[in-house]
Amino acid sequence: MENQFTSPAKKIWLSIPEYIRQTLLNNVWCSRCRTVTTIVDFKGSVENKDLILNGFCKKCGGEVARLIENESVNPVSVKRSDKIDIELTEYERNLLLKMVIIEEELTEKFRLARIHNGMLRFKLSPEDLDILLGHIAAETNHTKNSHYQNQLDALYDKLKNIEMS
Ligand SMILES: [Zn+2]
Repeated sequence: MENQFTSPAKKIWLSIPEYIRQTLLNNVWCSRCRTVTTIVDFKGSVENKDLILNGFCKKCGGEVARLIENESVNPVSVKRSDKIDIELTEYERNLLLKMVIIEEELTEKFRLARIHNGMLRFKLSPEDLDILLGHIAAETNHTKNSHYQNQLDALYDKLKNIEMS
């Protein structure tokens, strides 16, 4: 099946270098597989000046989505002070989605990451970050696996520092 784009979406998509496009398509979170997957049969549309790809997981056929921030089309990106920028490694994000039970709405925000210098970027409200910290703390106490406990601890500290900065 041919991938479909709205015309503004296509414009943004084609402005992205081919090798980056491929990387974007191969790094999509699937909440059913609980891992990074390749998006197939996707539709591209533009929402709030960002490109959103909605398609399916290559492995399980589940619905997946990818948000691509378009800084070139949106040069005057107004930094909203009510949102906190959070940068996570792919590993940290996956740890979060694998180990920590979070609301669907919050999970969605973590699925729609932007990639910036190899890091995944998310925008969270202070409330969301607070809720997330609560979940991480709860899961850290709950898990019997000391390996995950340490990693969750480190993630908690990292996010706590972001919250306080
Ligand atoms: Zn899947």
